[in-house]
Amino acid sequence: MATITVTNPATGETVGEVQQATAADVDEAFARARGAQRQWAALPARKRARVLRRFAKVVVDKRDELLDLIQSENGKNRASALEEVMDVALTSLYYAQTGPKATRTRGRFTALPLVSSTREQRPPKGVVGVIAPFNYPLALAVSDAVPALIAGNAVVVKPDSQTPLSALRAAELLREAGLPEDVFIVVPGSGAEVGQAIVRQCDFLMFTGSTATGKKLAAQAGERLIDYSMELGGKNPMIVADDAPLERAINAATHACFSNSGQLCISIERIYVHRAVADDFIAGFVDRTTQMRVGAGRDWGIDMGSQISKEHTDKIAMLVDDALTHGARALTGGHRTGETFFEPTILTDVPADAALYTQEVFGPVVYIEVVDSLDQAVEKANDTEYGLNASVWASAATGRRLAKRLEAGTVNINDGYAPAWSAMGAPMGGWKQSGAGRRHGEHGITKFTEPRNVTRMRGVTVGGVMDFARRRLR
Ligand code: NAP
Repeated sequence: MATITVTNPATGETVGEVQQATAADVDEAFARARGAQRQWAALPARKRARVLRRFAKVVVDKRDELLDLIQSENGKNRASALEEVMDVALTSLYYAQTGPKATRTRGRFTALPLVSSTREQRPPKGVVGVIAPFNYPLALAVSDAVPALIAGNAVVVKPDSQTPLSALRAAELLREAGLPEDVFIVVPGSGAEVGQAIVRQCDFLMFTGSTATGKKLAAQAGERLIDYSMELGGKNPMIVADDAPLERAINAATHACFSNSGQLCISIERIYVHRAVADDFIAGFVDRTTQMRVGAGRDWGIDMGSQISKEHTDKIAMLVDDALTHGARALTGGHRTGETFFEPTILTDVPADAALYTQEVFGPVVYIEVVDSLDQAVEKANDTEYGLNASVWASAATGRRLAKRLEAGTVNINDGYAPAWSAMGAPMGGWKQSGAGRRHGEHGITKFTEPRNVTRMRGVTVGGVMDFARRRLR
């Protein structure tokens, strides 16, 4: 039986060994999930919601253990791990509160109000497949499953093969919270085998990962005519306007760019700063960045942990070297400091022919350009194939004006990424190559249902009504 050895990328220590699933294991998981789903869906939605509300409590109670686990398999710093735990708890509470209402049967407009009534029903899709990346091994494997479960689906999850432990632990905690057996099943293994086996048989595909993989999987889902949600890459801009609250922008920029070691789909990789405030902003941001503590371990004072792997760090180093070779300058950072560590890096003078000018780095690397007007900033911000997140630092009026012109699924005014992400009531997702579909908000749960329009006639048929109308019109 093949196993996956899980290694802490920050220390090189082995932290676990899990059984690697095969395509046959996925088939078996789906058979079990299909059996369990029927009974789960037969429960009233508020009973399902109660289980997820308890889950939120269990997650918060086990916070420290989960933080240790996330850090140990991913190498991130503790504060970034805390964002995951909070995300799972918040999502569970949000959908436990709003999910039953969003998926309840509702009366709808009908053309024949006196003789007919229409009900929109929202039964679950069946078994939802979740395929998750390495960067948030708990949140991205579990938070999207939460609304799917409340809607009455079973879920089969494939975590990234480098980080399967948090998802496996979440399955145990869901059971502890009262979720029936086989309603949430984790199958660790490779994308090529286990991921593909999920894509072949799930009733809805919830994918988070790279744009390249997302496009392939969307095409496969299209072949099967199943719905999907693709949460993909980004090259997210920040605009610092001439009327920005500068001190706050400087203080927040390190979090916006280097949180989760820069391995965050919504983190900032490009900054456009207005010439009027550029010197002060750049000096302050560089100063804060040089003070960041980078390292391994549980100390809350560590600002940034490791990258996920040597290979990923190689890729970051290659992109930075390429930019430097093309004429970019590093205002701070620019080097790896170990197999899996890379310095928080601020570049400037990056020419358009450097790969990272347009390509997502997915590491702690940002570049700054000084602009002469906000129109120019917006134009540059939108000049990308991506459209995931944007950040604007400005007065309220300027911020709202710029936000309307930005081609991005979320715009954070006077912060980097967290407020719009955690605003669970509003949809979150990508424009352009950053995705298709949305998470959060009402759509974040109704997408896991298959609408059924049930219309009942009373006493007459539509043909009878038409005959009556024809006679009157003659
Ligand atoms: P990836 O290579 O696309 O992998 C993501 C997941 O897909 C992994 O579990 C992977 O499995 C699996 N997979 C790969 N090929 C597959 C295939 N042919 N069939 C089925 N499954 C397959 O993405 P990544 O590089 O690890 O993740 C980073 C990317 O995710 C970045 O671009 C980032 O911006 C994006 N991201 C987006 C969001 C968002 O919400 N928009 C959030 C987080 C990350 P294995 O690796 O285990 O083989």
